[in-house]
Amino acid sequence: MAANCIFCKIIKGDIPSMKVFESDKTLAFLDINPLSYGHTLIIPKHHGAKLTDIPEEHLTELLPIASRIAKASGAADYNILQNNGRLAHQEVDHVHVHMIPKPNEKEGLGVQWPQQ
Ligand code: C5P
Repeated sequence: MAANCIFCKIIKGDIPSMKVFESDKTLAFLDINPLSYGHTLIIPKHHGAKLTDIPEEHLTELLPIASRIAKASGAADYNILQNNGRLAHQEVDHVHVHMIPKPNEKEGLGVQWPQQ
């Protein structure tokens, strides 16, 4: 945990979030500024700014959980995004994977999420 990290504060519960999934190693919650309805962040509970700062055993759940959330939410089409460093547009220095549902032209987003 890092004292000044906003995502560590979310993990600790000091800052509220819309939790989607939680295990001993991983937390998923709705993005506060979503690019689409259902935009979810999946983060390791181990603090580190970039992928290379995190022990691999804390990274193993990230993609499987992103995949499971996309499937459970009914998001047929979606982007998985993971930014490392300022030049790569990383804003929060705690590793996170974005799962960003893409709207379906006929059926809209097709996801059922609580309102944020
Ligand atoms: O990959 P990047 O660092 O640019 O993305 C950070 C993401 O964290 C943004 O999509 C932003 O909306 C989200 N965020 C959040 N809750 C916060 C702070 C940032 O969901 N309290």
